[in-house]
Amino acid sequence: MIPFVDLARQQERIGEALNDAISRVLAHGQYIMGPEVGEFESRLAEYCDVKHCVTCANGTDALLLAIKALELAPGSMVVVPAMTFVATAEAVTNAGMVPFFCDVNAETHIMEPDDLEAAFAAAARQDLKVSAVIPVDLFGLPADYTALVSLADEHGASVIADAAQSMGGGRAGRQVGALAPLTTTSFFPAKPLGCYGDGGAVLTEDEELASRIASMRMHGKGIDKYHSQCVGMNSRLDTLQAAILIEKLKILDEERAERERVAEFYHDGLGSHLGIQTSGVDVKHAWAQFTIRAPNRDSIRARLADAGIPTQVYYPQPLHAQEAYKHFPRVDELPVSERLSAESMSLPFHPYLEKDTQRQIIDVTLGRRDRISA
Ligand SMILES: *Cc1c(COP(=O)(O)O)cnc(C)c1O
Repeated sequence: MIPFVDLARQQERIGEALNDAISRVLAHGQYIMGPEVGEFESRLAEYCDVKHCVTCANGTDALLLAIKALELAPGSMVVVPAMTFVATAEAVTNAGMVPFFCDVNAETHIMEPDDLEAAFAAAARQDLKVSAVIPVDLFGLPADYTALVSLADEHGASVIADAAQSMGGGRAGRQVGALAPLTTTSFFPAKPLGCYGDGGAVLTEDEELASRIASMRMHGKGIDKYHSQCVGMNSRLDTLQAAILIEKLKILDEERAERERVAEFYHDGLGSHLGIQTSGVDVKHAWAQFTIRAPNRDSIRARLADAGIPTQVYYPQPLHAQEAYKHFPRVDELPVSERLSAESMSLPFHPYLEKDTQRQIIDVTLGRRDRISA
């Protein structure tokens, strides 16, 4: 059976460094907010070329902290693409705001400026004022933040980048983390920069936002944790996870290059037969996933499953169709999100995927063979 994501190969590669890093934490015993947490924050901020990095317990909390830090009026509208992981809209709702769903682009699968423009227009028709926008870098493709931020600015709305899937990517020579006023990310194991459990971070140039978030993640800590300056939460990155992330960050660029090689090979084999997520010019895709589109998606999936090749559908239902989110406001029609839910699927993908395995996956995908050799 081919694994969908293979973390064992990475572990073989940096296993010794990881063991040493973990042993150092066990030796000093500062499991909460130990020195590795601050060290990792400095290193990730430097890597992204952004002033502040505040880590937290997971990518969903990173979104929640970022939204709360904006101090919007309760019930404010926040534009979210319907085609994303539920956490994006969940964080908006848990922060006391209201998600307003917009559609995405059929080729890039992400929110493009015209999708956002349509959302502002639809909100205005419904007499709703949009206060913030959360574009999502789906599958690792960084959104066009230059255009999205200037459009949001015109409407007086803030922008938070949900970069849970795109760490290591970039656009126009800048890294993800430095593309939007606030960026959130996740270190869930299967993300491009993953730890061995849960983890997340918020990145920003803004000193005031960063210190508000740093306080909120520790119960609204003032001069110490027994003085609260705001209502916070408990959302810290474990020292052990920070120690692991320091080692993984060192190979992120190399792994991204390997991911690109794997993506190009899939693209060469499949691109003339199937729809493939396209990226724009001057974009550095982080390649969290390799995603294709086909009207007969379900039969292709079944054929791959029969051959022992796992696939995933991200996401089988757009958010505006979900039981928990269907009553929230949105643009009138979301045909692209609906079609992508029905037609897209992601293939096995990781930096260590070999060409021979990929060749077999491509052949089964295209129906040229129905089994793989051992
Ligand atoms: C994974 C993910 C999150 C949430 O991250 P967690 O660390 O699992 O909480 C949020 N948004 C998107 C787009 C994601 O893919």
